[in-house]
Amino acid sequence: MGASFDALVIGGGAAGLMCALTAGQRGRRVAVVEHANRVGKKILMSGGGRCNFTNTGATPANFLSANPHFCKSALARYTPSDFIAMVERHGIAYHEKELGQLFCDQSSKQIVAMLLAECAAGGVRIETGCSVERVQHGDGGFHVHTTHGAFNAPSLVVATGGLSIPSMGASGFGYEVARQFGHDVLPTRAGLVPLTLSGKHQERMADLSGVALPVAARCRDASFSNDMLITHRGVSGPAILQISSYWQPGDALRLDLLPGRDALDTLQQLQRERPAAELRTVLGELVPKRLAQRLCEISLPSRPMKQYNLPQLRDIANQLSDWPLVASGTEGYRTAEVTLGGVDTDQLASATMQSRRVPGLHFIGEVVDVTGWLGGYNFQWAWASGHAAGMGL
Ligand SMILES: Cc1cc2nc3c(=O)[nH]c(=O)nc-3n(C[C@H](O)[C@H](O)[C@H](O)COP(=O)(O)OP(=O)(O)OC[C@H]3O[C@@H](n4cnc5c(N)ncnc54)[C@H](O)[C@@H]3O)c2cc1C
Repeated sequence: MGASFDALVIGGGAAGLMCALTAGQRGRRVAVVEHANRVGKKILMSGGGRCNFTNTGATPANFLSANPHFCKSALARYTPSDFIAMVERHGIAYHEKELGQLFCDQSSKQIVAMLLAECAAGGVRIETGCSVERVQHGDGGFHVHTTHGAFNAPSLVVATGGLSIPSMGASGFGYEVARQFGHDVLPTRAGLVPLTLSGKHQERMADLSGVALPVAARCRDASFSNDMLITHRGVSGPAILQISSYWQPGDALRLDLLPGRDALDTLQQLQRERPAAELRTVLGELVPKRLAQRLCEISLPSRPMKQYNLPQLRDIANQLSDWPLVASGTEGYRTAEVTLGGVDTDQLASATMQSRRVPGLHFIGEVVDVTGWLGGYNFQWAWASGHAAGMGL
């Protein structure tokens, strides 16, 4: 008993809506089950309310996954240009902010409205405020028991997202469904998240809260040049959010405080030009003054520039270009933009996102172990993986 469809999508976020509109417009009867009171809440809050909906430079190299090849097929078959074409068809004005990041000129509400209009064109039924109680498989299909009754279909698409921002409807439900059907779930952790400092490392920095500067943050094989912001509890800003996805507790994290410059050359030049100036003063022209002052208190004793010999200048240069940042943890899912890890791609077909274990079962979007950098990449993965599944239903 219950309503019958060709496909059921659990989760009305970016990936679920894209999958539903794609399949609906191909003539499939599709229902989306969303437990929140409206669809696309993360789209609405994204990009500061303007939704950084894609990145024109998105390539597989911008994604983290235990299998870095998995995302290639879906990303190649639904590109940023494909999504931009839809945005333009709907007359939504947008602009590039920096580094290929595209934002709406007006509001992320326009992106949700566009997805809903495309779903309507495909005859998709959207059930909001509908909680899933149980998923069963048998008798030729999936039976999803919800607070709005039973839904039956031969195909089920799990698009429930990650664990980030629980107050927005995030749940671990997709991982539970994966495990129920014998899929492995790789350990999850918060990504694109501020890092925390503790003990003396935090005490040294806490009163610099609000200070921002460009840095190059390095960890493992990754490096990101962008701004860093010092906060009460640690560090944030785009360079830190990016590197946080690569950082794991205990990892060394290094900061180049003079990105794009040769620190030794810079110091030698300043020594020639202003021999009587104190290090603290010249450093205060290269990085924010309060930070320069603090660096001198911590480990760069300030003297007139002419008093440093070459090995000493070299040591200062090394510290400035390779400053060790001892992070103690992250701010966690409460503020993270994404969840790393998730449904293991080994048991999914990359062209259709379909399970290799249970025919008809699909996983798309952030619930899968594919995580993008900051800058519109995560939505591009949601669109591409949603489209891949939608074309296969
Ligand atoms: C503050 C913030 C800003 C962001 N900004 C950007 C940005 O500008 N650009 C970018 O590319 N990425 C951004 N991201 C990341 C991006 O939002 C996600 O990667 C993307 O939304 C993932 O799409 P998804 O469809 O997989 O999951 P989601 O969009 O999270 O959708 C999952 C949906 O499933 C629903 N759901 C969960 N559990 C259940 C259940 N048991 N039953 C029914 N429904 C359920 C949820 O309510 C939700 O609607 C941002 C994230 C955050 C938190």
